[in-house]
Amino acid sequence: MAEFALIELLRARCGIAREDVRLGIGDDAALLAVPLGQALAVSTDTLVAGVHFPHGTNSYDLGWKALAVNLSDLAAMGATPAWALLALTLPQADARWVEEFADGFAALAGEFKLALVGGDTTQGPLSITLTVHGLVPDFAALRRSGARVGDGVFVTGTLGDAAAGLRCLDKGDAQAERLNATPPGSREFLIERLNRPTPRIAAGLALRGRATACIDVSDGLVADLGHVCTASGVGAEVDAAALPSSSALLAAFDATRRRAFQLSGGDDYELCFTAPDTIATALLQDLARSGCGATRIGRIVPGGGVRVLDEHGNAIAVPQRGWEHFA
Ligand code: ADP
Ligand code: MG
Repeated sequence: MAEFALIELLRARCGIAREDVRLGIGDDAALLAVPLGQALAVSTDTLVAGVHFPHGTNSYDLGWKALAVNLSDLAAMGATPAWALLALTLPQADARWVEEFADGFAALAGEFKLALVGGDTTQGPLSITLTVHGLVPDFAALRRSGARVGDGVFVTGTLGDAAAGLRCLDKGDAQAERLNATPPGSREFLIERLNRPTPRIAAGLALRGRATACIDVSDGLVADLGHVCTASGVGAEVDAAALPSSSALLAAFDATRRRAFQLSGGDDYELCFTAPDTIATALLQDLARSGCGATRIGRIVPGGGVRVLDEHGNAIAVPQRGWEHFA
């Protein structure tokens, strides 16, 4: 199968009709109409085989995840997904691989009526770069820079599942292997959280005009909340005991490892946000109604950096930095 047949295959499976796509795949550039009064939120992320996912990961999951991690950035800005560009580098033109990749991509794209409008197809070591475009009313986007002393710190969903899922794929991890004996589905649930993250788009929309700052948790809670603190010129305290856990995580790992996954594990793609406590009750109700609840996990304080406290209020040592390439 040659380059243009692969592109046609992607177009056929991922082409969603949208009125604002004046011209999609097939010309030298796509033509897209941004409505008046809306800002374009643009973000790009690359997944490299052997770095971001193990060699041999099935391509359906990769199609889903490549889009999910990008949509998560739009969610963190409070943007509505609209269009995407896909730069795909493949070792060989394997039609089955591309079909399944396209199906994983399309399954998530369809949920948000997101159209694939262009890209690039090249031969080389497996690498997937996606650029997503979202729309957000002028001046309504959520940023990292607005957290204020006294705000509560909140997180959607549950934390630590994806890092635990990664351990489940590790042969020889005693606790992860014990999972085979824990409640049915725990292991599958954790691995699914790793391979098919859910971008919190509806939550991002509900946070517009209400959260003072927002970020998606891709590199680990402490590292990502640290970015909010730096951008906002504040510090944060996190209550370790308040971190939300899935029942699968609780069933599978002891408290020490659970805490490590939740504070420093990456790949959860939940939203971490700050908001005044005066609006917390109404906000949490709206989030629950939008399909994804959130939990208060701490507060914004003067100073800088993130301090994690145990149930007695004593500081727990946690690495402040998440995953960094070239580190
Ligand atoms: P050009 O040579 O003008 O850059 P290409 O031959 O690379 O164009 O691509 C032809 C058309 O197919 C373009 O509209 C491009 O955006 C689209 N395209 C190429 N690769 C992909 C891909 N992986 N996913 C989606 N669209 C693609
Ligand atoms: Mg051209």
